[in-house]
Amino acid sequence: LLARVKDVCRRNGLLILSVLSVIIGCLLGFFLRTQHLSPQEVSYFQFPGELLMRMLKMLILPLVVSSLMSGLASLDPKTSSRLGILTVAYYLWTTFVAVIVGIVMVSIIHPGGAAQKETTGQSGKPIMSSADALLDLIRNMFPANLVEATFKQYRTKTTPMVKSNKAEPSEATPHRILIYGVQEENGSQVQNFALDLTPAPEVVYKSEPDTSDGMNVLGIVIFSATMGIMLGRMGDSGVPLVSFCQCLNESVMKIVAVAVWYFPFGIVFLIAGKILEMDDPTTIGKKLGFYAITIVCGLIVHGLLILPMLYFVITKKNPIIFIRGILQALLIALATSSSSATLPITFKCLLENNHIDRRIARFVLPVGATINMDGTALYEAVAAIFIAQVNNYELDLGQIITISITATAASIGAAGIPQAGLVTMVIVLTSVGLPTDDITLIIAVDWALDRFRTMINVLGDALAAGIIAHICRKDFARDLGPEGHKPAPC
Ligand code: ASP
Repeated sequence: LLARVKDVCRRNGLLILSVLSVIIGCLLGFFLRTQHLSPQEVSYFQFPGELLMRMLKMLILPLVVSSLMSGLASLDPKTSSRLGILTVAYYLWTTFVAVIVGIVMVSIIHPGGAAQKETTGQSGKPIMSSADALLDLIRNMFPANLVEATFKQYRTKTTPMVKSNKAEPSEATPHRILIYGVQEENGSQVQNFALDLTPAPEVVYKSEPDTSDGMNVLGIVIFSATMGIMLGRMGDSGVPLVSFCQCLNESVMKIVAVAVWYFPFGIVFLIAGKILEMDDPTTIGKKLGFYAITIVCGLIVHGLLILPMLYFVITKKNPIIFIRGILQALLIALATSSSSATLPITFKCLLENNHIDRRIARFVLPVGATINMDGTALYEAVAAIFIAQVNNYELDLGQIITISITATAASIGAAGIPQAGLVTMVIVLTSVGLPTDDITLIIAVDWALDRFRTMINVLGDALAAGIIAHICRKDFARDLGPEGHKPAPC
């Protein structure tokens, strides 16, 4: 028995360590909350977790560029276009299913109730309009400067401006009435009133294109995929660059293989550090609690029931074994809240544990981490309907359909970084006339829900790779020979 336990530990050592690190991180975080650390101490404590995020982010750029360029260049045009169409169609379809699951869950649980709003006390201002969000998405697809795209993405900036305070009073700029109170204990005069006739200044919001920190993964994916397709068409003259990308891809994966041993340690501090920072859970209102439960239930139904069933029906293989193979990637998603940062580990798990053809993984995973976010889409639909419920706003069928389409689009537009979905929520809310300010209602629990939806985003990408590899297995065997999970030639 001891030998068997030893064997299991040896083969699954890293996974066991990662699971333990999540548990230790939670326990440590809750214990340290009772110690009332200073902000400075908390930031020092978070340092090992910050290092983990840095390592993962460092690998995204070489991994995405090399895998897409070498992956697409090594396919013949017919196979690559079939793979492309199949992947995008699959992603759109499953994202839409996730939205439907979310809509059904929020309609059944009805977390918004019918009574008064529970606010978190944070006041809001328009973050950006849905037209601006759409333009940013398109801008990000075509970065003007590829070097800048490695550290900045387009994000429209909305600034409040005081238009004027000299205008005639109107409905938009009403009189400001100031009341001065003077209290006298025994005198005849109790209060003085003064009328200030200055019109209140009108505040208008100005939107202008801007950039914000964070890699523009979408732009890099579009550029690399296009380069890969073109390289494939160039024939022999493209071979040197393709070989370079294959070598780069192999070496990045070797770095990942070494870095993963640091990850369990980093996860402890990443999770404990976040728990130290979070608001007091007892201040979260009842409705917000039900809202969070609705999202978690929806994610469980979609990620642990619908997607695995789809995998089973199409491949006739056991989805539990498949999910066990990517468990480590799911834990990293939970710890980092970023599907882009998890990408190197998802690759590693799929190639080494689930033996997915690397030519498929090289295309399906980077594209998935950028556009396929089932968890985010589900969350966007639930959040929009929750906000409608809180406002006693009755949604008709047309508006529900609008929400399902815009939530799908908004999830495609969201970057694979922490809480990106919160920003693209504006598209969904404005499409049905809901107040964008009310995004502030859900901010208090968003950091936690983000971790769960990121896990489902990563799970969706991985299962997609498994399903697409199964569907395309004949094409790949016929066109290019069985490469399987063997390392590509450098
Ligand atoms: N954090 C999510 C991801 O990286 C995106 C989001 O829903 O905010 O996949």
